[in-house]
Amino acid sequence: MKRIKSFNNEAPILYLIATPIGNLGEFSSRAIDLVKEMDLIAAEDTRNTLDLLHRFNISKPAISLREHNEIEASRKLIDEIKKGKKVAYMSDAGYPGISDPGYLLAKLCIENDIAVSVISGGCAFINALTSSGIDTTHFYFHGFLSSKPNEAKEELEELKNKKETIVFYESPHRIEKTLNLLLEVFGDRYISLQRELTKINEEKLYGYLSEFKNIDINSLKGEMVIVVSGNDKKEEFTDDEIILKVNYFLSKGMDKKAAIETASELYNIRKNRIKELIK
Ligand code: SAM
Repeated sequence: MKRIKSFNNEAPILYLIATPIGNLGEFSSRAIDLVKEMDLIAAEDTRNTLDLLHRFNISKPAISLREHNEIEASRKLIDEIKKGKKVAYMSDAGYPGISDPGYLLAKLCIENDIAVSVISGGCAFINALTSSGIDTTHFYFHGFLSSKPNEAKEELEELKNKKETIVFYESPHRIEKTLNLLLEVFGDRYISLQRELTKINEEKLYGYLSEFKNIDINSLKGEMVIVVSGNDKKEEFTDDEIILKVNYFLSKGMDKKAAIETASELYNIRKNRIKELIK
């Protein structure tokens, strides 16, 4: 176990800075002051980040840390931090590590006893979720579905019994397919589709998946988030009934895993509940 204080003058620290998801007014004064103090900025796309900093009259040396070089670049940053350099990492938009690189960097820093502190800012899914009017008590953030249709379908099959609100990131060129797939796998759930958050064209759509069939798909441009209400169907089976169903599949030659999956699939019963009963 480790205990690392963030703000101790002598101790090494990495800052993760959340950047605006659209409106530049959301780049906080704390973020601006901190960037000014840094010796080195690591960024997903250095050109974008230097452009952003330029708007605030800041110029800094920058190095690239993106998905394909995350480990190697993280090691380099850790060396710099250990030498006493002040280093921050910024994503193109929103929080590092949220459908963006950053998690491995944070992990390696912690392994090297380097504090990781976050400068708060915009996050697309938090904006969408909080204005969705869909239950925010418990939610599950999925981010992007696979770009391969079969894999995306499998992911949705895994998610369809979740009771929690589910949040997806999506892009305009895939939105039609994703909405169709959601309707096919989840049934006619209530959703909120939100696009261009914090920007001049911000728009929020609310309704059932079947209603989205009627809208002009070309009008759904820009960056977008889909918030989907959780599965509120009640499990109507008693424990004995569930055990009987699984035993039936087992008697037909299925192995335990397949029998549990089939029962879960057919009768919309949570896998964990079945596993508890079939030990
Ligand atoms: N790190 C970011 C965050 O904290 O939200 C997410 C980056 S991810 C690469 C980009 C995706 O986030 C977009 O495809 C879109 O789904 C969502 N997104 C980012 N900015 C958005 C905005 N202004 N409005 C709606 N969705 C946005």
